[in-house]
Amino acid sequence: MWRVRTVTALRDETATARTIVLKVPDWPSHVAGQHVDVRLTAPDGYSAVRSYSIASAPNQEGSIELTVERLTDGEVSPYLTQELGIGERLELRGPIGGWFVWRPRQTEPIQLVAGGSGIVPIMAMIRSRVASRNAAPFRLLYSVREPGAILYREELRALSTQDHSVTYAYTRTTPKDWPRPPGRIDAAFIADTIWPANVNPTCYVCGPTSFVESAAGLLVASAISPEKIRTERFGPTGDRK
Ligand SMILES: Cc1cc2nc3c(=O)[nH]c(=O)nc-3n(C[C@H](O)[C@H](O)[C@H](O)COP(=O)(O)OP(=O)(O)OC[C@H]3O[C@@H](n4cnc5c(N)ncnc54)[C@H](O)[C@@H]3O)c2cc1C
Repeated sequence: MWRVRTVTALRDETATARTIVLKVPDWPSHVAGQHVDVRLTAPDGYSAVRSYSIASAPNQEGSIELTVERLTDGEVSPYLTQELGIGERLELRGPIGGWFVWRPRQTEPIQLVAGGSGIVPIMAMIRSRVASRNAAPFRLLYSVREPGAILYREELRALSTQDHSVTYAYTRTTPKDWPRPPGRIDAAFIADTIWPANVNPTCYVCGPTSFVESAAGLLVASAISPEKIRTERFGPTGDRK
């Protein structure tokens, strides 16, 4: 069912990504990893629907956060990241999804693998773990084009100095003196950074379709059982109206 929601705050995360805070007073609550559908309708009746993961942890405050990465040639993301204002309304449907989710009752080791804006639902899992004081060991492997593209940079920095392990992989430009040249994650990098297979982690992999397929393949090649790998692909969705 579509419901109209009000934008209560906007926050730039990077030069191309913006977090949208929405008031959802009668929200049925959500589980970390779920997404919503957003519908925009033009005055002539033309409408476009896109899915966006929920970035915030489940909370009692009646609000959710979405983080949208702008695609310059996109139809919807430029509007959401550049034109949408505080006090404006968006049509939302959700929360949606029951497989790519992390629940606070899970206590097993967790391996998170994010590519680009695929960090959004994974951040909800990290935030949900913190909010629920869950002690499950979490590791995050986060692949980004360049340092300036890191979402939630300060929050991740703070977490990585506590008990979360965060490893970055840069595909185009690295920070100065970074030990690894820019490039996609490969088998050696996976072997060096993720939980070993004998720890039997549950893995969550999210990002553009090609990234997810390649990363999931590398996890399987490193002896992680396919049943322990949950994936979410951010490619264009089929039914968009
Ligand atoms: C379950 C789910 C959750 C998602 N969560 C998020 C999220 O939290 N944050 C976020 O920014 N996006 C997310 N997305 C992607 C989002 O739904 C849109 O696809 C994205 O914002 C582009 O929409 P657009 O209208 O701007 O571009 P479009 O007009 O749809 O596409 C413009 C061009 O970009 C290509 N394209 C479309 N989507 C992508 C993509 N994701 N990666 C690379 N190329 C693409 C198209 O093929 C086309 O060539 C999610 C997608 C799914 C399926």
